[in-house]
Amino acid sequence: MRIREVISRKGDAVVTCQPGTTVGELLGLLAEHGIGAVVVSGDGRAVDGIVSERDVVRRLHERGAAVLTASVQEVMTAAVHTTSPDTEVAELAGAMTEGRFRHVPLVEDGALVGIVSIGDVVRSRIEALAAERDHLQAYIQQ
Ligand code: AMP
Repeated sequence: MRIREVISRKGDAVVTCQPGTTVGELLGLLAEHGIGAVVVSGDGRAVDGIVSERDVVRRLHERGAAVLTASVQEVMTAAVHTTSPDTEVAELAGAMTEGRFRHVPLVEDGALVGIVSIGDVVRSRIEALAAERDHLQAYIQQ
């Protein structure tokens, strides 16, 4: 199964923020949308970075509460692993495990077109394996 199919089911909404958004404002976005990461984009099209709850926790430990007034640009990861909607889910699962990140923005023709989380990937893999098992069971029982 390809990522495009995952997106067609769960939707293509992506929560983004400007590089100048403060970490305090970012926490509001994470809480409001019930998500773990936000894509940083100046124009809502290009991926400038990604900032996850893990970045905030690490910086809070290093810098204390003063980090809440810092901009997300200071705490984000700028070298973002993005992928195309045509990528196979199993391939992306391997990259996420290897890279130790739980979110991957989807980019097509240079523009942000969606995001997948490790939760989306695991759900899709479980569904695919269950379908394969049912198919094999039906074949054996024929
Ligand atoms: P996460 O597991 O997504 O909460 O992110 C863990 C760490 O990896 C954080 O430092 C994130 O900024 C970073 N990160 C998250 N997603 C990506 C990605 N797609 N590419 C590169 N780094 C990422």
